[in-house]
Amino acid sequence: MLELRPSCECCDRDLPPASTEARICSFECTFCAGCADARLGGVCPNCGGELLRRPIRPATKLAKFPPSDQRVFKPAGCASRG
Ligand SMILES: [Zn+2]
Ligand SMILES: [Zn+2]
Repeated sequence: MLELRPSCECCDRDLPPASTEARICSFECTFCAGCADARLGGVCPNCGGELLRRPIRPATKLAKFPPSDQRVFKPAGCASRG
């Protein structure tokens, strides 16, 4: 099951479960659309994998399957790519 991490690793922007701006790789490294597209070119800086839109978990499922509250913030991984 997806963790649904709450924020972008690059800019620490909030990415709530219903956000269509969230991008993830297969390891669930999580970024906002702006960082994924403009800064990272659609490639995860941690694993080199594709960053694709995170599917939205239906609100009716969030009570039973809540999103992660563990923020991951690694701006260094994004800085080298201009
Ligand atoms: Zn971001
Ligand atoms: Zn990754």
